[in-house]
Amino acid sequence: MGGGLTVHAQTQEQREIVALVREFVDREVVPQAPAFDHDDVFPGPLVERMRELGLFGITIPEEHGGLGLDVTTYALVQVELSRGWMSLSGVLNTHLITARMIATHGTDEQRARLLPHMATGEWRAAYSMTEPHAGSDVQAIRTTARREGDDWVIDGQKMWVTNGLRSSLVCLLVRTDPEADPPHRGMTAFLIEKPPGAADVPGLTIAKLEKLGYKGVESTELSFDGFRTPASSVLGGEAGLGRGFAWFMEGIELGRINVAARGVGIATAALEASLRYARERETFGKPIATHQAIQMKLADMATRIEAARMLMLTAAAKKDRGERVDLEAGMAKLFATETAQEAALEAMRIHGGYGYSPEFVVERLYRDAPVLVIGEGTNEIQRLLIARRLLERAEASDPGTEARGS
Ligand SMILES: Cc1cc2nc3c(=O)[nH]c(=O)nc-3n(C[C@H](O)[C@H](O)[C@H](O)COP(=O)(O)OP(=O)(O)OC[C@H]3O[C@@H](n4cnc5c(N)ncnc54)[C@H](O)[C@@H]3O)c2cc1C
Repeated sequence: MGGGLTVHAQTQEQREIVALVREFVDREVVPQAPAFDHDDVFPGPLVERMRELGLFGITIPEEHGGLGLDVTTYALVQVELSRGWMSLSGVLNTHLITARMIATHGTDEQRARLLPHMATGEWRAAYSMTEPHAGSDVQAIRTTARREGDDWVIDGQKMWVTNGLRSSLVCLLVRTDPEADPPHRGMTAFLIEKPPGAADVPGLTIAKLEKLGYKGVESTELSFDGFRTPASSVLGGEAGLGRGFAWFMEGIELGRINVAARGVGIATAALEASLRYARERETFGKPIATHQAIQMKLADMATRIEAARMLMLTAAAKKDRGERVDLEAGMAKLFATETAQEAALEAMRIHGGYGYSPEFVVERLYRDAPVLVIGEGTNEIQRLLIARRLLERAEASDPGTEARGS
């Protein structure tokens, strides 16, 4: 990797796929991304290449047509993709969260029918819980599904649905029992099927949202008005009723590792651009790389990137061992995304006025990075989750604290 940073791929298989993706990124993504980004156009040809590389099935079990690779390999691949263009990583993220939820909690019929289409990328998936009035506070969602014969009828609005338009499948969190106490027990995950690319289907309209960066991949608003879906579309079948909240929270752990990987990827791209530019650009008769003020920035960027990468790999390895990973995924997401935002800003400063020009990649990195501190649970929420887990652990190992204090 440029900048002399370690790659951390451990096995032969990991090294091969990471090398393959890096080659794809350097040869095809890096030259093409600026045009897709500036025109805000969906990168169809690059997504086709990702399909050919098998990336849509990377973590889907082999028995369902995927590559069956682990989360660690997935994270390393996401770093590479985001180093080239973060939007490509966004096309994969909601797809693979949904695939994992189906593989883990779906019925045999759902696994057998949906996963093979998903593994090839022929069917892509979105993952939707946020609503216009409720993002961090997921328990406040209002979209409902009510049973009518063999169907469920869905009403309500979903916001910021990544891949909402071109997906064939939306993993959707809705309220099926408004009276349930606590409210999250009344939530259920549905696997909504729809024709990809259609903005208007009976009971559902899809609108594209404008945004600062993270272009090319669509962010959408979904409005459900009497949308009918068969009872078989409840994730996990009848047994899945009321379990949606817990399953979405579990699913988002993979999303947080993905976002941490994106942070490492963006920060790495920022460092690589800075190392390049600092050696070329001269002020006062010498390359700016020889000024110590610039060297400090480069050193801090590189150090933080390595720390972020370690946190990401720790979380991924724990997930691969099947352990609870909310604390580690939260820390990795928090640190890597703050690192990405800082690195993007520092890279822009190193580029001086040119950093503000779309001719240099750092302008895009600066627009793309902020969504990472918001998405998959804001970094404020990550801190709350991290603190909650720390306090739980402290209480478990030393339950007498309160008694002693009183
Ligand atoms: C480009 C993009 C793509 C997205 N893709 C998806 C997607 O595919 N699927 C999906 O479901 N969602 C998606 N989201 C939504 C995203 O997950 C939410 O925006 C995010 O969870 C924050 O929710 P909010 O925007 O409603 O902010 P709010 O929840 O309204 O938060 C506003 C501010 O208050 C802070 N805050 C809130 N509660 C607390 C608290 N208790 N303590 C301290 N601070 C607090 C937040 O950190 C934030 O700074 C996407 C968002 C964007 C911008």
